[in-house]
Formats: sequence, C-alpha cells, structure tokens
Amino acid sequence: MSRIKDRSLAPSGLQKIQWVRDFMPALSGIEERFRREKPFAGLTIAVSVHLEAKTANLGLVLREGGADVHLTGCNPLSTQDDVAAAMDQLGVDTYGIHGVDPQGYEDLLVETLKCRPHLIVDDGGDLIALLGGRCAEYGTRLVGGCEETTTGIHRLRARERAGILPCPMMAVNDAKAKHYYDNKYGTGQSSWDAIMHTTNLMVAGKTVVVAGYGWCGKGIAMRAKGMGAEVIVTEVDPFKALEATMENFRVMPMDEAARYGDIFVTATGCRDVIVARHFAVMKNNAIPCNSGHFDCEVDVAALANLARERFPRRANIEGFRLEDGRVLNVLAEGRLVNLAAGNGHPAEIMDMSFAVQALSLEWLARHRDGLDRRVYEVPAELDDQIGRVKLAAMGLTIDTLTPEQEAYLAGWEA
Ligand code: NAD
Ligand code: SAH
Repeated sequence: MSRIKDRSLAPSGLQKIQWVRDFMPALSGIEERFRREKPFAGLTIAVSVHLEAKTANLGLVLREGGADVHLTGCNPLSTQDDVAAAMDQLGVDTYGIHGVDPQGYEDLLVETLKCRPHLIVDDGGDLIALLGGRCAEYGTRLVGGCEETTTGIHRLRARERAGILPCPMMAVNDAKAKHYYDNKYGTGQSSWDAIMHTTNLMVAGKTVVVAGYGWCGKGIAMRAKGMGAEVIVTEVDPFKALEATMENFRVMPMDEAARYGDIFVTATGCRDVIVARHFAVMKNNAIPCNSGHFDCEVDVAALANLARERFPRRANIEGFRLEDGRVLNVLAEGRLVNLAAGNGHPAEIMDMSFAVQALSLEWLARHRDGLDRRVYEVPAELDDQIGRVKLAAMGLTIDTLTPEQEAYLAGWEA
C-alpha cells in the first residue's frame, strides 16, 4: 500500500525512468540474467536510496530477479514525486513524499520496513538504525543488506565494533566500481550541475573552496578547476593536503579560506566544517553549500543565529542577511546539494553503483546460510566483472596479461 504525493504525476516519472534505462547498460545486462535466474524468488527487499529515476531502475531490476520490492527515499528533499508515482503505477510498493519533515520521513521508512525484508539497501544507515532500534520487530527475517555511501559504512563499522550490527552488511561504497567513479566523477559533475542551475551564475573567475580532498572532494575540485575557477582546498589529512597541493590547488585552513571563497562546497563526512566564525568573515553574497552526507557540515543554525533576516532568493537558495548588511546564500538548506537541488549523479555513474548493489544483494541471497553479523567487502570478482562489463558497454577493450606476464608479476625470480 504505497504512500506517495500524487498518482497523476506518474507519466512524467515514467518518462524519466525510461530515459535513464537507456543509459544503464551494466544494470540492463544484470536484469536480463536476473529475469532468467530469479535469484530473489521468495525474497522481500526494502530499498532506501534517493528516490529518483536511477533508483527506480534498480527497483525494477530487483523485481525482475523475483524480489518483492518496497521502495523509499533516503532524504526527503531528493525524493521526486513523479518518479514515486510512476513506481507505484508500475506496481512497486513505494513510500516517498518530497519535502516531508523529519518525523514524516521516518514514518515513511517505518512503513517500508513493515514488509519485513529479507534484504535491505541502505544509503546512510537509516534503515539499519531503525532495524537496530524501534523497528527490530520487522527485522526477524533479515538475511543481510548493502550500504551505499561512505558515511553509512563508517557507522556500520562502528556498530560492528560495538557488537550491535543487526545483520550482515556489504560495503558497496568500498567497491572500486562504486567509489572510484560515483564519489569522484559523479559528485564532481552532479554537484556543479546542481550549483550552476540553482544559482545560474558563472563558475569561471570565481574562487571555490572545497572542504575535504577525499574521493568526492577530488571530483568537485577537479571540475571547478576545469570550468575556470581558482580552487582552494581545506583538509585535516596531511597526505590529502599534499596531494591537493601537487594538483596545484591552494591549501589552507578554513579560517583563512573563509575570507576568499565565492562558493564553498563541503565534502568531508565530518561536522562543523563551516561555522559561525567563518560566516563572520565571508564575502558579501558568498555561497556555502554541502555535498557530504549530512547537513551538519555547514552550520546553518549558527548562520541563522547571526542573521537579522532570512529570505528566499530563488528555488533552493535562502539568503541570510547579517547585522553588517552582508548576505550569505545557502543552497538546499545545507543538505547535499547535488541531490537536494538536482538529480544526483548521472545515469552512467549510477549504472555502476547499482550494478554493485544488484550483484551484492545476489551474493547475500546465495550465501545466506553462512553469514555473520559483520561488514563484508564486495568480492573482488564481482567488482572486476562490473568494470569489464562497463568497458564493453562503452565499446572499449584493454590488454590481457599473458601467462608469462602473470608469472613475472607474481614472482621474484626474474
Ligand atoms: P573520503 O573519506 O574519501 O573523504 C573525506 C575527506 O574529508 C578526507 O580526506 C578527510 O581527511 C577530509 N576531512 C574530514 N574532516 C575534515 C574537516 N573537518 N575539514 C577538512 N577536511 C576534512 O570520503 P568521500 O567518499 O569523499 O565522502 C565524503 C562525504 O560525501 C561522505 O559523507 C559521503 O557519504 C558523502 N558522499 C556524497 C555523495 C553525493 O552524492 N553527494 C556521493 C558519495 C559520497
Ligand atoms: N541519507 C543521505 C544520503 C547520502 S547520499 C542524506 O541525508 O541525503 C550519498 C550517496 O547518494 C552516494 O553514495 C551516491 O551513490 C548516491 N547517489 C548520488 N546520486 C544518486 C542518484 N542519482 N540516485 C541515487 N543515488 C544517488
């Protein structure tokens, strides 16, 4: 029994889903095999990922594999009501309403978990948190699950250390086929896509401050440079800072960078990266935003405290007028800008991330009897398989090691 905003929006959602399906060849190949082999026959899967067209496609692929799929979002601002309506029309139980408040969001997750899933797909650990707490009663059939993002995996590992992981979980983010491309090139493109269409401003000639030079930060900084911005990187890790320097980015603490930036993009997975003392020295009309997991990287509450007025400027831009008259413009409430103010990563990228999800779920289903409550790495063969399928789909071929080369690389004799 779905809970969505408006069934009449389905035609637009169906169009979006059909469009992305044409650009997700790795997942299409998996779908074809799933259709024949039905690896999920008799299994119920709850999926909590940004509820937009590429996720919808993942849901359809899992259904082709025989699963009873129940779909929800992982962030109320990234849920697209037309896609939710389309999935409902396609007969998938869907729980997603754009813009609901935190309680409304949690209610939708709880409704989804009432299907008592065997398998889950989580993005940030919200389903796991519920299954380890107030929804434990819906977890009695759990075989395992997959986690999509960096921050979610940090939390799973913390639960594992504390001995409170509700079920075996696969670290999908840590697969090469996921974070090498999704976190770097996906976040690199989709963050700028969202920032540019939301602000309708130039990037060239601006000073962009990127907080965190991890996988996401590297992508964001690289694309900013490519579009003609001067890029400053802030870091806490000396090696990442050195790497950024050698890419010719300026590196300095946020206390200093705050004075120079026109646009700020955080991607640290940490909290309190841009706080009151930084707002106090930012330029008039500076634009802080976040591409990291949670909305605690940019302290929007502190900015609200400093401001004498807050006012809407454009869709997804809120202005904060400070006592001295400066205005700072926060995008998408400080939530991850590429999804809360955009369509997230492009289809070709989510093709790879969701291929990892689909094969990891299949692996869990096939190994269900021998698993412990711990965090599992995605097996290297699956990862490799996705890399090769993707290359083939792009019409690319690569060299193959000869037996002599393999022996040379593996030995010490030569
Ligand atoms: P990562 O671990 O590769 O990189 C994070 C970097 O931030 C590290 O280099 C770390 O040293 C640095 N850092 C930590 N605290 C800092 C601080 N206070 N100031 C400056 N730098 C700091 O992680 P990642 O894969 O790049 O992911 C970063 C965040 O983005 C996570 O929360 C992840 O879940 C999220 N993410 C978002 C998207 C998206 O679509 N927007 C995609 C993938 C991941
Ligand atoms: N629950 C968090 C979500 C973190 S999002 C929140 O509060 O919003 C980070 C993850 O979103 C990434 O790991 C990436 O794989 C995923 N993502 C990016 N673009 C996406 C898209 N178009 N569709 C579905 N998921 C996407």
